[in-house]
Amino acid sequence: MTVPVARLSFWGVRGSTPTVDPATWRYGGNTPCVELIAPDGTQFILDCGTGLRMLGSRWAAPNGGGTPETHIFVTHYHWDHIQGIPFFSPLYADKNEFHFYSFRSKFLGRDSLKQVFETQMALPYFPVDLSAMNAKRKFQEVEGGDSFPIRENKITARWLNHPQGCLGFRIETPAGTVAYATDNEPGDAKLDESLQELAAGADILINDAQFTPEQLATTRRGWGHSSWLEGVRLARAVDAKTLVLFHHDPDSTDRMVDSILRQAREEFDSVFAASEGMTITLGAAGDRVQAHMPVTRTALRREAQFRARVCGVTEGGKQFEEETVVRDLSLQGALISLQNMPRLQSELQVTMETPGPNGLQSMELRGYVVRIDSSTEKGHSAVGVVFTD
Ligand SMILES: [Zn+2]
Ligand SMILES: [Zn+2]
Repeated sequence: MTVPVARLSFWGVRGSTPTVDPATWRYGGNTPCVELIAPDGTQFILDCGTGLRMLGSRWAAPNGGGTPETHIFVTHYHWDHIQGIPFFSPLYADKNEFHFYSFRSKFLGRDSLKQVFETQMALPYFPVDLSAMNAKRKFQEVEGGDSFPIRENKITARWLNHPQGCLGFRIETPAGTVAYATDNEPGDAKLDESLQELAAGADILINDAQFTPEQLATTRRGWGHSSWLEGVRLARAVDAKTLVLFHHDPDSTDRMVDSILRQAREEFDSVFAASEGMTITLGAAGDRVQAHMPVTRTALRREAQFRARVCGVTEGGKQFEEETVVRDLSLQGALISLQNMPRLQSELQVTMETPGPNGLQSMELRGYVVRIDSSTEKGHSAVGVVFTD
């Protein structure tokens, strides 16, 4: 019997508005869009932020047995969650069919999401109108408390505390459960309870972490967002296995998100900061969540031969120091062969010996672990890092 496996991919992780600032490239600047492929091949898309465009350009019809389907859940109608819709190219092909789910907004009334489509694409806001969108589209209204099956998966919706309302979605698949709780602020007893129900025992809890705990307590109170600390408290309270910090503030640089992640990891065992291109496999052998980051080094790569000393923290949280040789180097990063398995999204101190005018000199670099693959060298891992300064 094969083990059911689900794949969760992050296409957009930024909150409020897209960023193209170089200081935010490592985590990514596209607004919310998350994809879950269930073991039965059903494709779920959570939110239609600008990340949806990339998903569309890599589009392949959902695989799996029988009749694969795509179900798209929109949490609410703020710009950052709908802006990718007109740029999702599969919507323009008549062979495609999509099932959309969202709530009836009191500001829009019946068929709220359908109206959003029409308004977004009304002239003069977009060069073509809705008649160009040829894919079959079915719209279903959902509200907090609803629960229903889609093939072998179970969907549950719950209200979250956010201006003009927002739904959180929980998807239970045979490979594990994902709870998606973007855009929510703690502090409303009833809605806090609703969030706890949504997140109960989830394998992956994706939670709003836009603000620091200090901002949340002062200047950003009432803005409808949460912090890493609230995410950790929630994950502990409901016994969630892995917490993913999501909806990064547009003003948070990569360095700031690194620091948020570091603090969260001091308080909770399994935490990642959502990063564009990151995928998490659920239900894989060993029942461990496996996270992968995309290859981010696009610069020219050079084969090299630099002796290096690498210090870092292992997957299990232990400090290590190891001598190695760096053989693959670019201006942005390197692929380093290590016996130790560092933690994904952790920092490595890389001290390389480079030739200088007076013989060898050492160069100190700070690397951030973006991927871990098996190495051609026995007993080693190929660790991809980007240099952060
Ligand atoms: Zn948002
Ligand atoms: Zn919002």
